[in-house]
Amino acid sequence: MTLRTRSAKRAKPISRKSLFSVLENSQDVSYILDARFNIQYCNPAWDRFAHRNGGNRLTASHVIGAPIWDFTPWELQPFFAMVFDYTLTRRDMWRHAYDCSSPRVHRICEMSVHPLSDPEGYLITNSVLIQEPHEYSCDPNPVRYHDGESRVTVCCHCRCTKVVSSQLDWDFVPGHLGLPREQLTQDLCPLCRAYLYTPSLWLTKPATVPA
Ligand SMILES: [Zn+2]
Repeated sequence: MTLRTRSAKRAKPISRKSLFSVLENSQDVSYILDARFNIQYCNPAWDRFAHRNGGNRLTASHVIGAPIWDFTPWELQPFFAMVFDYTLTRRDMWRHAYDCSSPRVHRICEMSVHPLSDPEGYLITNSVLIQEPHEYSCDPNPVRYHDGESRVTVCCHCRCTKVVSSQLDWDFVPGHLGLPREQLTQDLCPLCRAYLYTPSLWLTKPATVPA
């Protein structure tokens, strides 16, 4: 997979003051990390999203100062470490679409990571691309999805649930997205692991220019 980035057209840098003014009024859930990946700032849209989704413990007052890795599934941490390194070393932004559905709403979002300077850090914004009621769902039959400890395994990218009797079958079951943490195990489904999160695909070598 080639990293999806915006064109190389350089935007005029804006001051931090102007940046915060934009973020405070933005509908995009946005936050800033320092160079050590600690959360430095969350905008009001972050708190609104946290409240709407029952995550009061994730409001800005609770997460400022914490490393972003505390809130990133461990399966995705090497991938996002690569993303941060990519944006900083190439001084370029990076974008990535992902599923952020709730039990009632099908939601596809796009994450953008922007490198920051003076001081170095990262701005992350999350824009909603699609938001609509779910069109379909599978029957959440416990026998099909629950393991021996009554937990279900959900893909942390596409949000599908693993079928316990199969190594390959994963179904989209919106009802599982509202389960408490103690009933969920996060993993990557085979498709997401193969096509989106395989380290060898993250960066492609520059094309060789014929002499
Ligand atoms: Zn998946």
